Amino acid sequence: MLSLILPAVAALAHPAPVQDSPEDRVAALRDAALDDDYAYAITEAITTELGPRLAGTPEEARARKWAVSTLSKMGFKNVRDEPFPLQTWVRGAERAEVLGDSSQPLVLTALGNSGATPETGLEGEVVFFPSLDDLKDAPDGSLAGKIAFVSHAMTRTQDGSQYGYYGPVRRTGPAIAAQKGAAAILIRSVGTDSHRMPHAGSTVFPAGTTAIPAAALAVPDAEQLERLIGRGAPVRLKLTLTPRILGTRQSGNVIAEVPGRDPAAGIVVVACHLDSWDLGTGAIDDAAGCGIVAAAAKRIMDAGRPRRTIRVLWAGSEEVGVFGGRAYFEAHKGDNHVLAAESDFGADRIWRVDTKFAPANQPLADRLAAALAPLGIAASKQHAGGGADVAALISAGVAGVDLQQDGTRYFDLHHTPDDTLDKVDPVQLRQNVAAWTAMLAVVADAQEPISATN
Ligand code: ZN
Ligand code: ZN
Repeated sequence: MLSLILPAVAALAHPAPVQDSPEDRVAALRDAALDDDYAYAITEAITTELGPRLAGTPEEARARKWAVSTLSKMGFKNVRDEPFPLQTWVRGAERAEVLGDSSQPLVLTALGNSGATPETGLEGEVVFFPSLDDLKDAPDGSLAGKIAFVSHAMTRTQDGSQYGYYGPVRRTGPAIAAQKGAAAILIRSVGTDSHRMPHAGSTVFPAGTTAIPAAALAVPDAEQLERLIGRGAPVRLKLTLTPRILGTRQSGNVIAEVPGRDPAAGIVVVACHLDSWDLGTGAIDDAAGCGIVAAAAKRIMDAGRPRRTIRVLWAGSEEVGVFGGRAYFEAHKGDNHVLAAESDFGADRIWRVDTKFAPANQPLADRLAAALAPLGIAASKQHAGGGADVAALISAGVAGVDLQQDGTRYFDLHHTPDDTLDKVDPVQLRQNVAAWTAMLAVVADAQEPISATN
């Protein structure tokens, strides 16, 4: 699709302006970014040199050190690691086996914060629930000693909105099963692929609820288990999951800045998260996001000092509960943020822009939409909510921009061992950098005040 857009952009790349208007300057920065190599280089280095970066582990700490060094070498100012404590969970052994006449292994992975089985595993009868609502309807105590198994009907969508409908199967299903006495819970992976790739992700056991063993089956394995249950005879499983809580370890947010000319004009924060799940190398989630926001900020920096400070936030511990975003908000809520945005939905092309501006900023929203239009990006009427790490800022009243990426294949890969560099399309990645560069060029140099509220 991008190849259809590129000729139009190329035509715009060589205007003959009588004078260098702000719009010409934005267009020139945007179009030059279609040749960007910074984002891919960063994504390649994070996934290759650092590998998986599970929150709170030595691997995440190594990534933060690398990030401080790399962002400093790129010329950013005030580069620092802001540490915070984190209860750290790590994966152990993970195996599941159907017992009896149809005995066979199933592919799964423990959910973050899962409890552990005994080292020798546990055995139990499977109780099937087609949906989370069916699990909620199970009578209290009816699952004692049983292994709950919850399915769902997630399908692919460009905007990824089905994660909103089916994400709770993973986030809240295990605690509901625990409260009803289940010995363990399995869910169908919250994903849209048909490969034997289980999708990791966090679950939450509220205070007072004992963490039970909780794991996601790869989609084909979940369907296999459904077929076995459909035969009518009781299905028993042996499950071995031995994750551990290591205790309090250190995580941190890495911050880098392009200082603005006018400190009173405020800060534009652009975010991603540096931590990843441990199964793959976190290429689309979210090394690419870190590459995109740093590349765009670098391109603005190299073009001359912007009016507003641009702050790059490579957050830590997003995957395990947005602890980096929360730590950033607590430490910096008093800073003069005027706008927040995050790239955390892969590396495929941006197709839509959502904003959250005060009505008085409509001319700014219009200039932003015009700057993005040549990249094939449509302005929507949806309010920007920010990615996870900046959502607290936007909820607190800071203006926001969401540059929405095409999520059609995002949940084929999300949180799986298959989230690796080869899934990043360099051409689409450059379109992202061009959009972020245009956005920063518009907002960082806007002469009017920026606000989400009047
Ligand atoms: Zn992410
Ligand atoms: Zn994620």
